[in-house]
Amino acid sequence: MTALELISLLTQAIFVLIFVLVVRGLVRRPSRTTVDIALFFGAIAIAIVESRVATTFRLPQVEIVSDIVALLIIAMPYLLLRLVDDFSDVPALVNRLAEGGLLLSAAAFLATEGTVPPPILLAVVLYFAALSTYCAVAVVRAARRSAGVTRRRLEAVAAGTLLLGLVILVAGLAPSLPPPLTGLPTGLTQAVALASAIAYFVGFAPPQILRRAWQEPELRSFLRRAASLPRLPDTASIVRALQDGAGSTLGARATIGLFDRETRTLRFQDPHGVLPAEVGQGEYLAWRVFERQRAEYFADAARAHPALASAYRAHRVRSLLIAPISAAEQHLGALEAYTDHEPVFSEDDLDLVRLLADQAAVILESRALIDEAARVRAHEEAARLKDDFISAAAHDLKTPLTTLVAQAQFLERRAQTEPSAPADLAGLRRIVREAKRLSSLVVELLDASRLEQGKLVGEREPVDLVELVRDVARRESYRARRINVSADAPVVGSYDPRRIGQVLENLVENAVKYSPDDSEVRVAIAQRDGEAFIDVTDQGIGIPASDLPVIFERFHRASNVDDRRFAGMGLGLFICKGIVEQHGGRIWVESRVGTGSTFHVVLPLEGAH
Ligand code: ADP
Repeated sequence: MTALELISLLTQAIFVLIFVLVVRGLVRRPSRTTVDIALFFGAIAIAIVESRVATTFRLPQVEIVSDIVALLIIAMPYLLLRLVDDFSDVPALVNRLAEGGLLLSAAAFLATEGTVPPPILLAVVLYFAALSTYCAVAVVRAARRSAGVTRRRLEAVAAGTLLLGLVILVAGLAPSLPPPLTGLPTGLTQAVALASAIAYFVGFAPPQILRRAWQEPELRSFLRRAASLPRLPDTASIVRALQDGAGSTLGARATIGLFDRETRTLRFQDPHGVLPAEVGQGEYLAWRVFERQRAEYFADAARAHPALASAYRAHRVRSLLIAPISAAEQHLGALEAYTDHEPVFSEDDLDLVRLLADQAAVILESRALIDEAARVRAHEEAARLKDDFISAAAHDLKTPLTTLVAQAQFLERRAQTEPSAPADLAGLRRIVREAKRLSSLVVELLDASRLEQGKLVGEREPVDLVELVRDVARRESYRARRINVSADAPVVGSYDPRRIGQVLENLVENAVKYSPDDSEVRVAIAQRDGEAFIDVTDQGIGIPASDLPVIFERFHRASNVDDRRFAGMGLGLFICKGIVEQHGGRIWVESRVGTGSTFHVVLPLEGAH
């Protein structure tokens, strides 16, 4: 056997092998595309087997058999075009031309009984080459549109097609070449034919190992993008990102439905508008896949689910690839991919959808774990806060209460033992003062809990902040202190006067409380760009930098305040912040230990009457 013969045998064996493999694919997954692939390779395989059998057994030529074989070969480019038409739109004109060419070639062959005159043969060869080139270009374009394994496979098919076109061209032109060149085409054709067979094999029946290798880059890039997904703010954003990622990885449109345990439905946010927001039991193919927990491919979506046929048509959905999203025993949802053409290599695409669904499951699971951890943390935090609250409240209420009880018991005893003695005014005043302190602590506690329920701020009315500040500054409790109020003109906004008054009082009270008796407290009010600015400045103890970020938090007291020297619960600033924010404003502080603090409040002026 010569080298040429060996190459020819190998080429033929590969084509026959491809035929066997595609027939197996057809049996497993019958669809228009798999039928067309089988037809194309069937034509090649029959021609090969017939010539092998005839030469091996030296059979005499049976005319009808050789005619059929010749016609099958003539039909090859047309069969290829049919296949191309399955996954990309071949214009009607090209289809008609191809059909015309096929009929003319067949007619020419039959009319001349196999001895086609050279000009006609040339025309047929050119028709072959033109059609193959057209198909190869169409396949390349389809490859560009797709991704992953499909893309690589289509590229191989395009290469196979171009090479096959070349083989036919060279073989067809050989008889018209001058004698010294006739030997060259045979060797060249054999080599090109082998290359074409290999390319087709890689394209139509790639071994598993090659598919895995081709899948990897896509998966890896999907995973790279997916790594940060569980940290997105909510599950809806994760689903959106997963849909986009799966779509671009697949080269199709993708949507994800999450299973809602309460309603027992799949919830979709289908950006392509095909599926409704809720898919219930027994509805739609997505549910079917979810229920069976097995990925499925539907070549003809409209046929598989006639109720949605018009929606599928309206959105140019031709085929569906759906995979369940499940992690271990958890059934989380389904990933559905829409394609506008029947995928050429549906098994690879389905494989990829399955892999993407598995990845989506991992991401959604880790998101669920993060949520769960946050819930536990929040729960612990709430429990801790409650404990803090009880101990802070108990501690703060206990001091005035002890004084109050002791003082009252003392007065009681005195009244019993010396009924005629004059009233102990100082003792009574102490009782009143402690009772008032107790009452203001209780009010603070109540305010903090109302704030949380969003019920603190009431009716709003036009309020002059300058007037309000002056009111606060005049209060008896700071009589001993200089409160310097500076303002150029009234600053009027629409606020709940009681609550804004409370904020100002609290800030001024703190400024007084946390600064030496002979120092000055300044309050400046101004308006600028539709906002009111209030600054409360003192020259007091200041707030350590480490406490600044949390100073507005509930029960937080700075590390430089001593409970015995400065009474307080650490709720005032928390309430102030709540009131200011519920008015649409903001509050912050600038402070240096030993120098003093300035609390800034900004309130919106719009909406003022
Ligand atoms: P309280 O004064 O009852 O502790 P606040 O919520 O009003 O509660 O204040 C929280 C903490 O912020 C105070 O304990 C104190 O450490 C600090 N603070 C507030 N205002 C000032 C100020 N003007 N100067 C220094 N520290 C302050």
